Amino acid sequence: MATPSLLILPGDGIGPEVMAEVRKVIDWCGTRGLAFDVEEDLVGGAAYDAHGTPLADATMEKAQQVDAVLLGAVGGPKYDVLDFSVKPERGLLRLRKEMDLYANLRPAQCFDALADFSSLKKDVVAGLDIMIVRELTSGVYFGEPRGIHTEGNERVGINTQRYTESEIARVARSAFELARKRSNRVCSMEKANVMESGILWREVVQEVHDREYPDVELSHMYADAGAMQLTRWPKQFDVIVTDNLFGDLLSDLAAMLTGSLGMLPSASLGAPMANGRPRALYEPVHGSAPDIAGQGKANPIACILSFAMALRYSFDRGAEADLVEKAVEGVLADGLRTADLIGEEGRTPVSTQEMGDAIVAKLAAG
Ligand code: NAD
Repeated sequence: MATPSLLILPGDGIGPEVMAEVRKVIDWCGTRGLAFDVEEDLVGGAAYDAHGTPLADATMEKAQQVDAVLLGAVGGPKYDVLDFSVKPERGLLRLRKEMDLYANLRPAQCFDALADFSSLKKDVVAGLDIMIVRELTSGVYFGEPRGIHTEGNERVGINTQRYTESEIARVARSAFELARKRSNRVCSMEKANVMESGILWREVVQEVHDREYPDVELSHMYADAGAMQLTRWPKQFDVIVTDNLFGDLLSDLAAMLTGSLGMLPSASLGAPMANGRPRALYEPVHGSAPDIAGQGKANPIACILSFAMALRYSFDRGAEADLVEKAVEGVLADGLRTADLIGEEGRTPVSTQEMGDAIVAKLAAG
C-alpha cells in the first residue's frame, strides 16, 4: 500500500506551536510501522504574508491530493485590517468549500482527571464520550432567498432552511459509519414538529437507516429536547446527527460540557476519494489565541487529539488513536496541566513543549 500522506498547515499564532507537538506524535507513529508522507505549507495570515492570499492555489491543489489535511489555527490582530476577501479565515473557508466537507465531527469527551473542570456535576460528565455530526455545507446558512428587504414601511430579514434528500442522506451515512466504529447508536435531531425540512430530514435519515444500516440503533429527537437531554444526562448519546444550524448550537453546548477550548478536536469529512478514504480536514476547535502566542502557554492537546481523529477516521488505525487518547488521559491523571487547565487549585503549569513531550513519553513507554 502507498504511504499515507498528510498535509500540515500550522497557520498563525499558537498554530505552529501546537503543531510542533503533533509532529512528535507523528514521529512516534513511525516507530509503530505507520510512516506518513508529510508535507507542510502555509495557510491564513502566514500565507498572506508570503503570497498575498490566505491560501495559495498550489496549496489548495495539494490539499485535494493528500489523504488528510491537518490544520493548526488562522488569524490574528495583525490581519484585522485586511479586506474581507483576503482575511486569514477565508483560507480555511476555501479549504472546507472546495473539498466539499459536509460532515463536521465534534466529539465531546471528558477525561476523568478534568471532570471537576465542567460546569456540570462530576458524575454527569465523567467518562463522557459522544460525537456530534453537524451538516456543514447547506441549510439555513446557505439557503436562498436570503437578505434584508423593505416591505411597506419596515425591513424584513430573511433566511431559508433548505435541504435536499441527497444532502441529508450523505451526512446520515457519515453518522451511521461513525456509529459502527463506536457504540453503534445514532440519534437524529431536527424540528419535525414545526419545520417541513425537519420532516424530510427525519424521513430520509430513517430511509437510509432501513436500507443501508439496519444494524445501527437509530432514534429521533426534537433538537430543543435534545439540548435539554444533553445537559441533563449526556451519556445517553453515542452519535448525534443534525443540521447546520442546530449542529452549530448543540456541538458548542456539548463541547463545553467538558471544559477547556484547549482540549477540543474536530474533523470535517467529505465524500470518499478513489482510495476509499474520505476527504478530510482535522483541526482543533480553538483559534490562534494571539493573547498567549509565542509564550509556550498553549495547550497542544486539542491539536494532538485532532490527529488522533485522523488516525481513526482517515487511516483506520483505531488502535493507535486509542493509545494517543490514553496517553493524554495518562498525563492528565499524573497531574500535568497547561495554564488553561488550572482552576482554583494553584498548580504550576507546564509549557506547550513539556505537555507534548510528556504525551510522547507515555506513548513510548507503551
Ligand atoms: P481563540 O480560540 O483563539 O481564543 C479564545 C481564548 O481561549 C483565548 O483566551 C485563548 O488564549 C484561549 N485558548 C485558545 N486555544 C487555546 C489553547 N490551545 N491553549 C490554551 N488556551 C487557549 O479565539 P479568539 O480569541 O476569539 O480568536 C483569536 C483569533 O483566532 C481571531 O483572529 C479569530 O478569527 C481566529 N479564530 C480562528 C479559528 C480557526 O482557525 N479555526 C477559530 C476561532 C477563531
